Amino acid sequence: MVSALDAKHAVYVGSFDPMSLGHEDIVRRGAAMYERVTVGIGINPEKRPLFSCEERLELVRMVLAPYKNVSIESFDGLAVDFVRRCKGALMLRGLRTLTDIEMEFTTCLANRVLAPDIETVFLMAGEKYAHISSTLIKQIAQMGHHNSAEKLRAFVPEPFIQPLIDKFARRTQ
Ligand code: ADP
Repeated sequence: MVSALDAKHAVYVGSFDPMSLGHEDIVRRGAAMYERVTVGIGINPEKRPLFSCEERLELVRMVLAPYKNVSIESFDGLAVDFVRRCKGALMLRGLRTLTDIEMEFTTCLANRVLAPDIETVFLMAGEKYAHISSTLIKQIAQMGHHNSAEKLRAFVPEPFIQPLIDKFARRTQ
């Protein structure tokens, strides 16, 4: 059977709540390696995200506008099903720590059972970004009252800075 999946199309899924400079670095490098990258913003009905699906779509689109071969969509359900709907043959993931490796390895094996024709490709986090997580960013936005824009600039792409500050300002009012 000839696979209808495109071997030059990689799909990068995540929560991106918020998107970090580490995420952007993975997209930038993936876009240089493959003809097409689709970024899939996963919507998990069990989780209460900081940014709504619409907010994340809008902000991630602003961040990734310079990358002409990258498109952005949201999805719910299994990541491999989304990758297949996109007709991508590759799932792109980023690795930061040993904990990431352990978790990503198990997820990768499960995904291989669910979709043997979709390959997972791992990129090691950039050395400047390996310490960055969405959880850490939320903590900084919540507690770094003084000069928070300057602090956040080392962790998140520009379009996310003010919206992050506004989210926590509203919560503490
Ligand atoms: P998830 O909800 O799947 O954990 P994330 O948005 O946190 O989604 O991450 C999506 C992917 O990006 C995962 O493969 C994760 O390991 C990777 N990632 C997260 N932060 C970084 C970073 N700072 N540098 C490189 N990759 C990262």
